[in-house]
Amino acid sequence: MTKPVHTALTIPLALLLLSLSCQRGGAVTSDAGTTVPSNTEVLVDVSDSSPLTRSRTSAGFTQADFTRHVKALNTRIKRVSSAEFSIVIQKPFVVIGDEPRKVVQQRAVDTVKWAVDRLKQDFFTRDPEHILDIWLFKDEASYKKHTRLLFGDSPSTPYGYYSPRHKALIMNIATGGGTLVHEIVHPFIEANFPACPPWLNEGLGSLYEQSGEVDGHIHGFTNWRLPGLQRAIRQKAVPSFKSLMEMDANSFYNEDKGTNYAQSRYLCHYLQEKGALVKFYQEFIARQKTDPSGFKSLQKVLAEPDMDAFKTKWENYVMGLRQGTTVTVE
Ligand SMILES: [Zn+2]
Repeated sequence: MTKPVHTALTIPLALLLLSLSCQRGGAVTSDAGTTVPSNTEVLVDVSDSSPLTRSRTSAGFTQADFTRHVKALNTRIKRVSSAEFSIVIQKPFVVIGDEPRKVVQQRAVDTVKWAVDRLKQDFFTRDPEHILDIWLFKDEASYKKHTRLLFGDSPSTPYGYYSPRHKALIMNIATGGGTLVHEIVHPFIEANFPACPPWLNEGLGSLYEQSGEVDGHIHGFTNWRLPGLQRAIRQKAVPSFKSLMEMDANSFYNEDKGTNYAQSRYLCHYLQEKGALVKFYQEFIARQKTDPSGFKSLQKVLAEPDMDAFKTKWENYVMGLRQGTTVTVE
């Protein structure tokens, strides 16, 4: 989108000149911020240079902080790779990609901004504590090469991951934008609900890995995790909700029998279809000290005294789901 003219008039002359030189330099300006090819020294995000919008983000980072950050990224990229990267400031993130500049910018708006705006609308008030980088590598070769060169990683997943250590979300974007939305949830959970148990962190992340907009809100749809969960339900291999919700990181991630993500996702999906997901999240946050797993909050929001009976009800619900369709829970 083009910046409104009345905003441009409020920019001090020096900033205006900078922004003009920036545009002459070929950078693209939009709501996504300024796209900065890695070989340019012009690092002004003109979309945020108006006195009205120059305010700090909720995590306290100024425009100058972002500019410094981008400059450091440029230096870092050039040190390890001759590939052409574009950098887009999409607060609270910085998006870096080696697809064509326009594509990187489009992903910054259509995926990152889209998801961040809607997640904040329903769940999150605080931005991540650090400026986080979202690396969008164009294909498997680039993903493997650059995770090694930039982070010394050899990823166990072909899709992408969040690395708190590197303050980065690292994606093979050729596999689609779903994983990106999933990973965006994690740093927001970290900032807003540090004691969040793994089941909800992954439940929300994986709910939104297949999502769209319904009635102006982010909405998770059924996805590839469904058939495996249905199989496990038929085999009576799905643990009780109490067990799932009380799992610490080691049990959830390392001792997973293969259903933890899916069970968490489709519990969130059930709550969503009931119109109770946001209510549950708020209830859980409010009661986390006395209910660290969320189990009591779940019981309360569902108004289900018998959670074994609820599990049967939920299993029937899941067995009735089909990939690519939505159903309404009565
Ligand atoms: Zn995750």
